[in-house]
Amino acid sequence: MILVIDSHPYRYEAEALCRMFLRGRELKIFEGADIPEDDFIYTGVFGDEISVRVKMDGFDLSSNAKETENKAQKMEYLLYEILSKITGIVPKWGTLTGIRPVKLALSMMDRGISSEEVRRKFKEERLVSDEKLDLLLSTAEHERAIRALSKPESVSMYISIPFCPSRCSYCSFTSHAIEKAAKLIPQYVDLLCEELRDTAQLMNELGLRLETVYMGGGTPTVLTAEQMDKVLSTARSSFDFGKVMELTVEAGRPDTITPEKLLVMKKNGVDRISINPQSMDDGVLEQIGRKHTAKDVINAFNMARSLGFDNINMDLISGLPGDDFDKFRRTIDSVLELEPENITLHTLTVKRSANLVGDAQNMLSKSVDEMNEHAFRCFDDAGYYPYYLYRQKGTVEALENTGFCKPGKEGIYNVFIMDETHTILATGAGGVTKMKDPHGSKIERIFNFKFTYEYVDKFDLMNERKEQVKDFYARYPL
Ligand code: SF4
Repeated sequence: MILVIDSHPYRYEAEALCRMFLRGRELKIFEGADIPEDDFIYTGVFGDEISVRVKMDGFDLSSNAKETENKAQKMEYLLYEILSKITGIVPKWGTLTGIRPVKLALSMMDRGISSEEVRRKFKEERLVSDEKLDLLLSTAEHERAIRALSKPESVSMYISIPFCPSRCSYCSFTSHAIEKAAKLIPQYVDLLCEELRDTAQLMNELGLRLETVYMGGGTPTVLTAEQMDKVLSTARSSFDFGKVMELTVEAGRPDTITPEKLLVMKKNGVDRISINPQSMDDGVLEQIGRKHTAKDVINAFNMARSLGFDNINMDLISGLPGDDFDKFRRTIDSVLELEPENITLHTLTVKRSANLVGDAQNMLSKSVDEMNEHAFRCFDDAGYYPYYLYRQKGTVEALENTGFCKPGKEGIYNVFIMDETHTILATGAGGVTKMKDPHGSKIERIFNFKFTYEYVDKFDLMNERKEQVKDFYARYPL
């Protein structure tokens, strides 16, 4: 399929919108006025005239509109209407393609727009379904309460442990299967501790206050109990934890969780952990390359409970290869039986480059929306509410990932990062520090090296980049 961009700067918006309907079909972009002979999607903007024409699958439909203010939005609207007619696909998030719809709604409310007016605008101008509007506005209400906890001097910290016991088939994350990277881990841990100490010093100099800490991956629990202790105790002794509201460790795979590691976490004040089944069907788990069973999940969960962990998250994914509605339903039932405080439901994301992308979306999309709807109903019945959500490129049916919690058990770091509430200082390979103006919306990033071997080899060079944090706060003071 060819997308023609004629005389306008809204290429990104046009492309993102079209991809929701093309489901993995190849999309080539042409800039200019030439219309190809094959199937195409044409978009043109001339002054306040917006033109869209789609020749595809035997259809040839066009539409025009006048718009002076939101030209990109109007073009997306016209494209959505025509592509829906041709493909029969009606994405429930309407023309919204961004990853932070809640942030968009909250920014409107911050400007004094009521939630009823946000609902009306999103429904009429962005074609968002009632179901997603309910989800969006309910989530926004909870996010807003968490966001209010942040002060100008607040920051959060991410600690990256980019190793996994094996690679899951659906994963696009830069992590390293443990067999290959094991010999780098001791050196990695030492350097990470050095980076934590340097970061603490930097924060002290700048008068920043640590609010939440998230140790994620990868799978942090691939570290030995001693290595975990080293990282966590270095963090505790280097930073002022007096105001820290939450310290999460993403335990991730149940096959890496041991009583020794849980005790190390307890000793170091970890008050929230994640044990992630993804599915509770052993066949699905095997198919996606996880080396554990549903029983291992239950055992790890019970072990954590018996050691006093009273805030546990469980990640699930809808749309996994080999899954179907019945298996998914049983997954939801068995997770709810465990009564975790948080459940995060992700919708499968398929990498655009993968050949399977089109097939996967077409094969799965019939039931993935139904799966999510079913899960939302069950969570609601069991007393959970949505407290943060985000979307990703390439998610099946352009759906979303949503964090649910029992009252008062929100994962605070999750809200801060998705809302971009305040600065997140990232440590470790692949970490991205995001500095946020304490009194405005300006955001700048500092990238740590992505791969562990680069992190280890060029540690000093990378660590010097953190000086940019000082420079940022000199330009955007507290
Ligand atoms: S455990 Fe998570 S980060 Fe590791 S390979 Fe699986 S999905 Fe990717």
